Amino acid sequence: MLVTDYKLLVKQYLLILSVFIRTTGIKTTIHIMINKNILRFIDTNYYRAINQVTQNLEFTREELLDYQSDKFLRLINHCKNYVPYYKCLKSIDNINSIDDLKKLPFLTKELIKKNFNDLKAANIIAKRFKPNSTSGSTGEAMKFFSDIKTDVVRHACTIRGDSWTGWKFGEPSVIIWGATKDTSKANTLKGRLANSKFLFNKIVLSSFNMTNRDMTKYISKINKFKPTLIIGYPSSLELFANYISRNNFEIISPKGIITGGESLYEPQRETIQNTFRCKVLNRYGCRDVGHIANECQEQNGLHISSDHVIVEVVNEKGEHCKSGELGEIVVTDLDNYVFPFIRYKIGDLGVLSNRVCGCGKKLPILERVEGRTFDLVIGPNGNRAPGNFFTLLRYKVKGVDQFQVRQKIINKIKLKHLENCFYQIFHQYHYI
Ligand SMILES: [Zn+2]
Repeated sequence: MLVTDYKLLVKQYLLILSVFIRTTGIKTTIHIMINKNILRFIDTNYYRAINQVTQNLEFTREELLDYQSDKFLRLINHCKNYVPYYKCLKSIDNINSIDDLKKLPFLTKELIKKNFNDLKAANIIAKRFKPNSTSGSTGEAMKFFSDIKTDVVRHACTIRGDSWTGWKFGEPSVIIWGATKDTSKANTLKGRLANSKFLFNKIVLSSFNMTNRDMTKYISKINKFKPTLIIGYPSSLELFANYISRNNFEIISPKGIITGGESLYEPQRETIQNTFRCKVLNRYGCRDVGHIANECQEQNGLHISSDHVIVEVVNEKGEHCKSGELGEIVVTDLDNYVFPFIRYKIGDLGVLSNRVCGCGKKLPILERVEGRTFDLVIGPNGNRAPGNFFTLLRYKVKGVDQFQVRQKIINKIKLKHLENCFYQIFHQYHYI
């Protein structure tokens, strides 16, 4: 009799405890604490970078400019001494301040390909070089390098932007994404750890599997996991939001949603916001230089991570556009010392603005970006995948410089590609 009472008591205690944990958010608090300490342990640089970029928000505009200017001059000094491509540029000797940046020539994908070896810093040991490449979906694919130091700053800026939704680092998040390089299937142990559900309280759902059946599963997963942040491509999230609202499914409301990887259109934003009943903030970045800019709660222009990059907008003569004028976006990555990107023409168009944002952040404003759009590819089984499915497929096929996908009818896809010399060699031995 006593034993039964004891068991009943334990059961009741566990029930009360689980309700308490669920309702008070203790689980999340524990996760936030664990996350910060794990980070301190496994990745001190990352931890420091997150603290640094968070503190940078306290800077005045002048302090931010000084900080950016210091980083720029340090990078130039490094390039002058150790990067063969820049050592040969006469104009680099005339760089004495950040205002002299415009004296340097632009860097293009073509120039990078041509001077690939000369862009590698000679004073950095080989094992620090992390190979990477762009997709080739909107032009030629391009190989480049980054390193851990660069990557942590990029991630820290991304996390800072994500936190503007109201989400706190360590709180549950759901990512509807396609790049396995960026998910738990990443090749490196660190990559896998960084995307671990257990460690970082996040789950990744594939944007390549978006049949009605998949989306029904995603809804129950999301409702169970209760993320305070959802991240995804605008096209995938719009599709998902439409599916939810059309079928009157119930879905939890996170603190905010971040979209990235392609342009976000206002009707898409409206659809996603209405379904999830929260704000959708746009993020702009790319594989080559990482995080560039992020919207805040004002949803009126993107704040540039000017502590990580310098963004210029230039006209066809290569001169700076005035505030409000559309031009080509040129980016200088202030953190990549292994393979410096200085005045890099990224391939998108944009508009800079002089105005001060109502949110109080001093980071400068990129009014808008024009460029990336991905259409959805529809399969005969009803599956809908964003166009970047092919972008990522390209990573598996060596030797493809550029490609284009066309779908006119449901069961036919036309794939055009431009190959380089490695393509032939590769296909003598491999069949996909
Ligand atoms: Zn703002």
